[in-house]
Amino acid sequence: MTNIPHVVILGGGFGGLSAANELRNSLQSSQVKITVIDKKDWFMVGFAKLWIINGTRTFENSIGSLNELSKKEIDFIKDEILSINLKNKNVKTKSQNISFDFLIISMGAVLAPQKIPGLQENGFNLYDHKQLSKIHDRLEKMKSGKIAITIMGMPYKCPPAPFEASLLIDSMLRKRGIRDSVQIDFYSPAPITLPAAGPEVSKQILEMVNSEKIVFHNSSKIKSVESKKLIFENSEADFDLLLAIPPHIAPKVIYDSGLAKEPGFIPIDRDCKTPFENIFAVGDVTSLTVAENMAVPKAGIFAEGEGITVAKNIISKIQSKEESILFDGKGGCFIESGRDTASVIEVDMFSNPKPSTSLTEATSDNLSKKVEFEKERMSKWL
Ligand SMILES: Cc1cc2nc3c(=O)[nH]c(=O)nc-3n(C[C@H](O)[C@H](O)[C@H](O)COP(=O)(O)OP(=O)(O)OC[C@H]3O[C@@H](n4cnc5c(N)ncnc54)[C@H](O)[C@@H]3O)c2cc1C
Repeated sequence: MTNIPHVVILGGGFGGLSAANELRNSLQSSQVKITVIDKKDWFMVGFAKLWIINGTRTFENSIGSLNELSKKEIDFIKDEILSINLKNKNVKTKSQNISFDFLIISMGAVLAPQKIPGLQENGFNLYDHKQLSKIHDRLEKMKSGKIAITIMGMPYKCPPAPFEASLLIDSMLRKRGIRDSVQIDFYSPAPITLPAAGPEVSKQILEMVNSEKIVFHNSSKIKSVESKKLIFENSEADFDLLLAIPPHIAPKVIYDSGLAKEPGFIPIDRDCKTPFENIFAVGDVTSLTVAENMAVPKAGIFAEGEGITVAKNIISKIQSKEESILFDGKGGCFIESGRDTASVIEVDMFSNPKPSTSLTEATSDNLSKKVEFEKERMSKWL
């Protein structure tokens, strides 16, 4: 057993990669051993999925390899995590047992389409990377009919993304000259478009989608899906193509370890600590309550901020410093208009006396910043 502290990071997404890089940028391999474990060996920025749907990207052109981490002396293990032993401080994967001094759990949220009867047989999962090119093909072949974009559970990743998807699909159909023959309906269980962003920004998002003749149906709680039919608690609706955002849950390992109760996420505070010494959780796998009925949204920018917070606190501990910082809750999410511009939803989750959110104007400069956001992460993390 070496006396170099070992930081094990479960999941190589936004939270895991930001933490691994922050640690390695401050400490050399003689000061800390870093291991990232993920069942897949690639990383993709979430919003690139929408570019695969609208045909401006391919999957292969949108991913970075996690094997690149080795160049920075960050060990990468491609394997499935099967269990976490919180007391003995080790993690079991399919092929090995790995012990740690510090653990960062950044395993994200799992899409659970099986929770909605009939969904998998009758609709597409808008967030599943394996279904994106099929969705693109269906949209390309469509000549007329009804598209239903349906949020089937809260919370879900990147609250503005399904609205952005509806605007990009609107744009695709407009360019093909068939928009007037296709109806786009947007169904959400929430009373307003973006509860996490508050009523003012929600109103602006509603105006944005309405201006493109996308019809928003609020308080539509899904029960099940049949062939070409959505069954809500209080109504029904027809569709020809269903693009669903299924309920999100935590990975099974998290429920097995007792860190969260099904179907919830790991409760954390701004220090991202779990009740177990030197075991932290960040990103979509967590739930960080801000105010009554309000939590930090599931978004890469927040997973990244939490990952950096935890890494900085681990660095302080390794260097025997007293300092520790809290996650600041600040971030921004892009929303593309489908007209070669984008707006940014700017968020400060812990501003006083309540979270503040605002929506910027849609500009081509913001769209360039969105492209840059992806490039920057790919180049600094991998
Ligand atoms: C269409 C779309 C658009 C989006 N747009 C934005 C945006 O504009 N801005 C923004 O900030 N966010 C956006 N997001 C959200 C963002 O992608 C997520 O919030 C972010 O990826 C969360 O980071 P994370 O590190 O918590 O989890 P993830 O990035 O999901 O990483 C978790 C990792 O853990 C691994 N893992 C899980 N279970 C296991 C296991 N048992 N064994 C091994 N590995 C495991 C997974 O393979 C995964 O790589 C978007 C998401 C989507 C789907």
